[in-house]
Amino acid sequence: MEQRRGAACVWCAAALQPGIDDVDLGARRATATGPAWFPRGCRLCCYGREER
Ligand SMILES: [Zn+2]
Repeated sequence: MEQRRGAACVWCAAALQPGIDDVDLGARRATATGPAWFPRGCRLCCYGREER
């Protein structure tokens, strides 16, 4: 799953380029019900529709 390893936006599933257009949402630790994952979002979803 692309979103789980931080390669795509968790909301719109857009492909991300780490360090260029991604927004790190903070790593989630592994739990009893699932492995660790690294949610990232695209700028549009995190900051709105306009580039700032
Ligand atoms: Zn997005």
